[in-house]
This record gives sequence, C-alpha cells and structure tokens, in this order.
Amino acid sequence: MRRRILYVFIVFGLLLPAASDVQGGVATYAVTEQKDTTVYITKSGEKYHKAGCRYLSKSQIKTTKKEAVKNGYGACKVCKP
Ligand SMILES: [Zn+2]
Repeated sequence: MRRRILYVFIVFGLLLPAASDVQGGVATYAVTEQKDTTVYITKSGEKYHKAGCRYLSKSQIKTTKKEAVKNGYGACKVCKP
C-alpha cells in the first residue's frame, strides 16, 4: 500500500508543473492577442474607437488597434479602446 501512495505523489509532482506551464502559455497568448484588438475608425475622424462608441457614425471602418496607431490615429478619450 505504501508504494501506491508514493506513486500517486510522484505522478502529481510530474503533472502539476506541466499544468501550470500550459496556463502560462495561454496567458502569453492572450497578451499577444490584445495587440490586435479590433477597433473602428471613421472617415472623417482622427481617433479609433471601440465597437459601440457614441462617436462612431455609420461610416465606421473595422481595423486593428495596431493598424490604426500605425496610420496616425489616436485613442478615443470617451471609449478608451
Ligand atoms: Zn470612442
């Protein structure tokens, strides 16, 4: 019986670090994904917005935050994308 208990501890010891590694990978992935957040720009404005912002007119153009910043758009102060 003692041997079996020891075996269980060894298995858990091997599995737990592996499980936390997987979680760390997921967290890193989420952070990199945030850089490509979908934002909206308008034809006339110089700001980019989150979906549903009251400053978005019907001319909202879907883009990514990265692209908007690259094209000289600034973050909207109302919806804080
Ligand atoms: Zn906005």
